[in-house]
Amino acid sequence: MNDVISLQGISLDEEAEIIEFEEVDDEDEEEEEEEYVTLGTVERAKNPKFLLRHLFPSKSGGVPAWLDPVDLPSGMSSRCGFCEQPLQFLLQIYAPISEKEATFHRMLYVFMCPSMSCLLQDQHEQWKCRDDNLRRSVKVFRYQLPQSNPFYSSDPPRHDGTDKPSSAGAALCSWCGTWKGEKVCGSCKRARYCSEKHQAMHWKTGHKNQCRQIIYNSESSSSGSSVRLPNIDKGHMNVLFSYSIKKSFQLNILVILVACSTLWPEYEIIIEDECAFDSEASEDNSYATSMVLTPKHTKTDDTYQHFLGKFEGDSNKRSWASFQERISKCPNQVLRYCRDPMAKPLWPLSIGRPSVANIPKCNYCNGPLCYEFQIMPQLLYYFGVRNDPDSLDWGTTAVYTCLASCETSISYKEEFAWVQLYPTAPMT
Ligand SMILES: [Zn+2]
Ligand SMILES: [Zn+2]
Ligand SMILES: [Zn+2]
Ligand SMILES: [Zn+2]
Repeated sequence: MNDVISLQGISLDEEAEIIEFEEVDDEDEEEEEEEYVTLGTVERAKNPKFLLRHLFPSKSGGVPAWLDPVDLPSGMSSRCGFCEQPLQFLLQIYAPISEKEATFHRMLYVFMCPSMSCLLQDQHEQWKCRDDNLRRSVKVFRYQLPQSNPFYSSDPPRHDGTDKPSSAGAALCSWCGTWKGEKVCGSCKRARYCSEKHQAMHWKTGHKNQCRQIIYNSESSSSGSSVRLPNIDKGHMNVLFSYSIKKSFQLNILVILVACSTLWPEYEIIIEDECAFDSEASEDNSYATSMVLTPKHTKTDDTYQHFLGKFEGDSNKRSWASFQERISKCPNQVLRYCRDPMAKPLWPLSIGRPSVANIPKCNYCNGPLCYEFQIMPQLLYYFGVRNDPDSLDWGTTAVYTCLASCETSISYKEEFAWVQLYPTAPMT
């Protein structure tokens, strides 16, 4: 798989060595040893075809490239635990663990509700004692496949334009293109939706006319048919709504285009070693006080000073400064990756960090979860998230995954995310 840009975990042997040689110097938390961290930055995709699932892309925004195109998360797994609306795709990273046959391909997907008020509620839930069925507005799924599998060739993609898309998957929502379209438009029987909300959005923004067109086209093509146009102008969504699972594999060119205009913009995630940025680091200290990586990323220096002032005299200030210093090596990083049992996230603040007890056990094997990567707030800047009080903002989002990357019959396994918010947002 040499051609595939990927994030490799380290082997179990290497892990053992690290543990053996690790020095016992836990007293000074800020004096962490420098782990080998891989950074992700974003670039507009040169060709959206490069981000299709048979090329195993690491990408953010747009729609997910589901490696298993059939058995997608559904029901409440695909929804925000608070507003119960479908979650929005944030990013996916291709992170195979080559030492294990079962994880020859391994993809991690992160979804988030775009509502800041849901994220604030999520914070309360995050701190609760762990029991099952916590409501979350941030969800992570892990998917893995062996080299020999029903979906993809065991040869690596050639990346020369000759790679062919694999078999068709489940029909997706005509609005978000993200989740299964299990409900079908009752009039045209073509458009499919993951939720009533997305049907309503699609109807309002053009399907009302498109729907009539689809019906008209299908009628004129089937000569002799005397089916009357249904009265769709009344616009009662529930009249149009009907369940259809029987034809779920039927794809229709007219409706597979994603209509939604509120998806986050699509980028390719480019992977580089953090140490590659070492030489450029200290020359340009201006980043440490620039607006880069201040909350919402677009605030003026005044706001930044005000923000920094809040930390005066407490350990948050120290944490913030070392966060800024480390980030300044590559200020546009959106992702930091390090799958190593010793690795820790780089927290912007000293408050709002999880303790060991806050990190749950694996839902499937009950084994430990370990930190794997973190998503930086800079991603929100690239997504064009506005600086409104109710628009999304976070300090960092750390993702914890099953240490064993265990196998179960469940296709997309839910992992755990910890979100650290800035103190301007109320916290428990
Ligand atoms: Zn929500
Ligand atoms: Zn949808
Ligand atoms: Zn329709
Ligand atoms: Zn597990």
